[in-house]
Amino acid sequence: MQIYTKILIGMAVGAVVGLTLGPNSSLLEKDLYKVSDGAAVGLRLDRNEPDSELKLPRGVPLELRHVETVEGTVTDSTGATHTVPTWVKVRFRLSERLLLRDEGGKLAAQLGNKKLGQSVEAWLPISAEPLTGGGFTLSPMPVSALGDSIVAWAQPIGKLFMRLIKMVIVPLVFASLLVGVASLGDVRKLGRLGGKTLGLYMLTTAVAVTIGLIVAHVFQPGSFIAEADRAALLAQFGSAAEGKSEAAAMAPSAMDNVLAIIPLNPIESLASGNMLQIIFFAVILGVALTMLGEGEGKPVVNFFDRIQNAMIVVIHMVMAIAPYGVAALVAEVVGTSGFSVLKALLVYGLVVVAGLALQATLVYGGLVKVLARMPLIRFMKAIRPAQLIAFSTSSSSAALPVSMECAEENLGVSNSVSSFVLPLGSTVNMDGTALYQGVAAIFIAQVFQMDLTLGDQLSIVLAATMASVGAAGVPGAGMVTLAMVLTAAGIPQVGLALILGMDRLLDMFRTAVNVTGDLAVTSVMAVSEGENLDPLTPEADKADPDRGFEGRLDHDPKPVEPD
Ligand code: ASP
Repeated sequence: MQIYTKILIGMAVGAVVGLTLGPNSSLLEKDLYKVSDGAAVGLRLDRNEPDSELKLPRGVPLELRHVETVEGTVTDSTGATHTVPTWVKVRFRLSERLLLRDEGGKLAAQLGNKKLGQSVEAWLPISAEPLTGGGFTLSPMPVSALGDSIVAWAQPIGKLFMRLIKMVIVPLVFASLLVGVASLGDVRKLGRLGGKTLGLYMLTTAVAVTIGLIVAHVFQPGSFIAEADRAALLAQFGSAAEGKSEAAAMAPSAMDNVLAIIPLNPIESLASGNMLQIIFFAVILGVALTMLGEGEGKPVVNFFDRIQNAMIVVIHMVMAIAPYGVAALVAEVVGTSGFSVLKALLVYGLVVVAGLALQATLVYGGLVKVLARMPLIRFMKAIRPAQLIAFSTSSSSAALPVSMECAEENLGVSNSVSSFVLPLGSTVNMDGTALYQGVAAIFIAQVFQMDLTLGDQLSIVLAATMASVGAAGVPGAGMVTLAMVLTAAGIPQVGLALILGMDRLLDMFRTAVNVTGDLAVTSVMAVSEGENLDPLTPEADKADPDRGFEGRLDHDPKPVEPD
């Protein structure tokens, strides 16, 4: 079975497990209240006695098991009465963390000096927030304890895979870019390639935001959101959204960003994984080595060439466990997203995905067909492993090693083009993210019934294109830069809370498109530099163990003696 098929099966298994056995599964009993700060919820030993409120230390998250429910009736804004839970009796364990943070032993004394590991029962107040259109939103909402532990159990497998694949990024990018630049041997050629690449990256991004704006205007996702859902989303995600706006406010200015490309200390850039600085230094060093000439430069270039080859072997080893890692990552995202959020934001999510599909087929299809003379289907088949890794990790950086492998092995792009164009793309080119920001901005404006002028929409295009340059290729980066895009068009940032619940899921789709865009531009650049692309067929991949993803690990290891 091909690696691609195995990863796809892993993803499907992860999605099914996440939906049916995740914390928000509708099949499992919801018997756990998770609160991020125990002190904030006002647990009482006796629910009728305000003085019995527990003196919990601040900032300790609690897992509260459901014991029993007390219901009450409340009247909503339309005059209808509802029976809703008002108090739930919950049980929690005195953990090390609770007791360590219990200064002066206040909590322990209040509980009659209970010891570590003993459990406590207390009453948790449930608040009902009335909606103007009738009904209520309740908080906190319970999740399934079993689902929660299943996801928690799968988490380390996903993290293990992510760490292994990220481990390869810095040495691979640095070594292969240095070798690529040195083998070009011509600084002017590099300058030309850089200019063309950046130009095309910006162009595809601006087109992507525009597609986002158009689909959002055509399908009007904002008009499908019920008032109850809107209030529930604002209540559930409001505080998390504030964090995103704050992060955006801390972002440096455009000029600082440009200057920051030049590293003060290249070793520090490598150590911290600052991609643009690594690219800058690798290019400079590669150029310097060509100026030293064959005799002196060659040994260093050879050394990095071997490092590059070794990193490729590592990627192939890591890809062997990709199906399991991917299953765990997908289970976690699907399991924690929750069905109610998905239902409320279904139309919005579908509009984003439709826009992304248009970008992938029309824009990239056109680019690779017209400029790289390759049918879209062949292109898509060749880059599938990179798309799947991008989708399941939601990180274009994490997918970078696999993208480089796909470009060189499956598409036949030269190392000197792919090692320059792809690392650059993974940081500066995010078409999927930009498109998503276009839809999100219009969606939020629609929900808040704002009219955006043409000028506002142009600001969105400009801001989203610039933001995509500034955003890092990591999960959720697009949500932080979205705060900047909203400000540019005068849309209230509380709107972020509306879409936050769906963000992680849409991140997967947009990241896959980000990576597809990088690879489409890479193919075009290779052809524009006079290369002939040579897409690998599955049969050729199987037949040739030295090319493609199949059979690369079948070589027996042989001892390597130093000279
Ligand atoms: N996760 C995206 C990426 O790595 C960025 C984003 O849209 O959040 O490409």
